[in-house]
Amino acid sequence: MVEYFRLADCAPGYDHGGLVRMLRKCCAALAAMLTAAALSAAPERPDILFVLIDSLKASHVGCYGYQRDTTPNLDRFAAAEAIRFETAIPGGSWTQPAVMTLFTSLPADEHMRVLPGLAHDSGAVTLAQVLRDAGYQTVGITANAMTNRRYGYAKGFDLWDDYSMTVPPDAGLERISSGYARGEVLTRAGIAKLKRRNPDKPLFLFLFYMDPHWDFKPPAPYDMKFSSTGLGPIRNAWRIDADKATPEIRRRTVDAYDGEIAYCDHAVSNLLAEVARTPRWNDTIVVVMGDHGESFWERGFTGHGNHLHDEELKVPLMIRVPAGAARIRPGTVVRGQVGGIDVAPTVLDLAGVPVPPSWKGRSLRGAMESGESGGRPVVTETRIRAGLWQRGVRTDRYKVVAVGDFDAPSEAYDLVADPGETNNLVRTGVPLPPGAAALVPLLKPAAGKGE
Ligand SMILES: [Zn+2]
Repeated sequence: MVEYFRLADCAPGYDHGGLVRMLRKCCAALAAMLTAAALSAAPERPDILFVLIDSLKASHVGCYGYQRDTTPNLDRFAAAEAIRFETAIPGGSWTQPAVMTLFTSLPADEHMRVLPGLAHDSGAVTLAQVLRDAGYQTVGITANAMTNRRYGYAKGFDLWDDYSMTVPPDAGLERISSGYARGEVLTRAGIAKLKRRNPDKPLFLFLFYMDPHWDFKPPAPYDMKFSSTGLGPIRNAWRIDADKATPEIRRRTVDAYDGEIAYCDHAVSNLLAEVARTPRWNDTIVVVMGDHGESFWERGFTGHGNHLHDEELKVPLMIRVPAGAARIRPGTVVRGQVGGIDVAPTVLDLAGVPVPPSWKGRSLRGAMESGESGGRPVVTETRIRAGLWQRGVRTDRYKVVAVGDFDAPSEAYDLVADPGETNNLVRTGVPLPPGAAALVPLLKPAAGKGE
């Protein structure tokens, strides 16, 4: 507590010793005033660290029940520091719609499909824009070429470093895998940005790690973490059809994917450790999330963006709130579904920044307090091929999916009775259960039929 300077303490008329004591007191008071001024210049809003990890599916993360020790550091973070969301569904099953939904809190049909081709600046308000207007320094670093600035992902960022397009000289080419900057490169870049931050502004730092994305070639020692024989070359990169996938190829593919996750967990933990050493740690919001899931022959092939089944959708989501956030306990697990569309409003709510009225998501603060999400329907989309989109609406119980004109569902599943989504209720010939039928009107995009 600052003891404020009082004018009476400097009044004349004291003896010499008294004058010295008075001067000392005045100096002390002045020092206290300067300290108070310095403190008041410190950013009032919390810092925000947003870590996005490509192709990280929830079912291969330790704290989401995976039997392998792929994510020891994220597991500890979730248990000790964060609120973990049991079921998080992104806005799409591939990078562009999923990330743009994170940035704009809009479904893909409102930020993306309204324009032909890939993502463009649709005019939607982004999280970085809102934060910059609220006084934040906004810095993004991405290793994913699909989120470079020509697709509109840099909007609102003071600085957007695209490590997929231009490899910085200090990146270390030996750590560039398949054209993607390795996790340790991003971590190093993130720490450098942290050290050169503007001390007068709160910081929004976004990092997009690529390691678990195909192809799977984890560096040592992670190449052997889940394999006793080594990984060896895996041919037919990206999508391996079931008829070509021998048991040996399947085993090695998953071993290597898990090795990439473990490597990325290590890289992210180094970043978190560095941030935790800063004086702002108690006032730092941290989001850790996957952008979408990954298929491993559940439908006969690998990859993502193929469809809207849960193996390509379910992602981990952990949010750390600033110390002292009322009624939110670290280690809480939120039951029930939330959407990627809800992440940006949550970040703004926690930072005390008003949410734009155009956003369609909602803050998850209440869910973090109660441990229950309420399970609102989430819209998710993918582009099957140029001009042909698939749109799904999911709740904790049901999912309905439509293709093309979205007038009628092509698929519907009871996710409780049939979590593997093998029994398409549309093909049974009987009316959909009321809970599924109620979702059908939501299949119609608000922004029209798209490209
Ligand atoms: Zn992705």
